[in-house]
Amino acid sequence: MSAADPAAPLREHDIRADDLKAGQQAALEHDIQYLHARRAAFVEVSCPACGADDRDAHAVFIKRPHTYHTCARCSTIYVSPRPPAAMLGEFYAQSPNYAYWNAHVFPRSEAARRERIFRPRARRVVEIVGRHAVAPGGTLVEVGPGFGTFAEEVRALGVMDRIVVIEPTPDLAATCRSRGLEVIEAPIEQVDEATLAALGTTVVASFECIEHLFDPGAFVRSCARVLQPGGLLLLTCPSAAGFDIALLRGESDAVDHEHLNYFTPDSLGLLLEACGFDVLETITPGLLDVELVRKKVQEGRASLRGQPFLERVVMDPILGDALQSFLQAHGLSSHLWMVGRRRPSPRT
Ligand SMILES: [Zn+2]
Repeated sequence: MSAADPAAPLREHDIRADDLKAGQQAALEHDIQYLHARRAAFVEVSCPACGADDRDAHAVFIKRPHTYHTCARCSTIYVSPRPPAAMLGEFYAQSPNYAYWNAHVFPRSEAARRERIFRPRARRVVEIVGRHAVAPGGTLVEVGPGFGTFAEEVRALGVMDRIVVIEPTPDLAATCRSRGLEVIEAPIEQVDEATLAALGTTVVASFECIEHLFDPGAFVRSCARVLQPGGLLLLTCPSAAGFDIALLRGESDAVDHEHLNYFTPDSLGLLLEACGFDVLETITPGLLDVELVRKKVQEGRASLRGQPFLERVVMDPILGDALQSFLQAHGLSSHLWMVGRRRPSPRT
C-alpha cells in the first residue's frame, strides 16, 4: 500500500484511536472509582437553575457514581448529592483521565479538533459579537481555555482588540502562555477588582464548563463581575432538552461522571436572568444527536422497538438528516449556546 493511498492514513488513524480508547478506558474507570469511593462526603443540592427542591420522582436515574434528578419546575437534570467544590478541585488535579488526554489524545487530535471544532466556534463567536455588541473591538475573556486553541483561533480573526484567558490549572496556563496568549492564572472568583477593571471586558466566553461546576450560579455571577455593563456572555453546554440526552438519558455518552448540571434552554435562561443578564439569543446548532442515537441502537445499547415511527426516522439516513435540521431549528439539539447581556446593575 503506497503512502498516496488515501485508505492508508485513515486505517493507521483508526488503529491509533483504538489504542487510545483502551488506555483512556482504564483512566476513566479510575476517575469514576475515585468519586464513587467518596460518596459519603457528597452534598445534597436543590435545582442549580431555579433553586426549587421539587423533583420529579418518576424521572430519577442512576449512572455510577451519580444519581440524577429532574427538577419538576424547570426540567433541569442535575446530580444530587454531588461532590463539593473542594473535592472537585482535588479530583481534577489527580485525574489520570485528564492526564491521559493531555499527554496522548490531545496532541494527536489537535489539528482535527482545531479544524472541526475550534475554528467554527471562533467564527460563530465573531458572528454573535457582530450581531449584539454595542461597539466593535474590546476585550474578550475566555474562562476555562484548556490549551488555548479557541483563543488562538479567535485572535487570528482579528476582530477583538485583546484576548485574555482565565485558567487556574498551572499546566494549562503554561500551555496558553507558550502560545502567546495573555493569561490570568487564578480561579475566576479570585481575580481582584483592579485587574478586572483594567481589562475593560466586553465579551466573556466559556465553553463546556458550567456543566462541571458545583455551583453554576456562583460562576455566572463571577462572569457578570468580569464584564462591563452591557457586555456579552457566551456560554455553551449540553442541553437536557436535547434529543439524544432526552431519549438516551443515562445511556448517553454526554451523561458522565464529570457533568453535574444539564440545563434546558429555558432553565439556563432563568439562571442568567437571576444573575444579572438579559438573554439575547439561544441556539442549538448540534449536528450529532440523531447519529448518536442511531449508533447506540446499532450497538444494541438502546432500543426503539415499540416505537416504529421513531425508529424509521432515526435509522434512515435521509430522514435522520431532516430530523437533525428540525432539532437544530427548534432548540432541541443537545448542544446549547446561550448569549446574555449584562444589565447595568446586576440584581444579585
Ligand atoms: Zn429547576
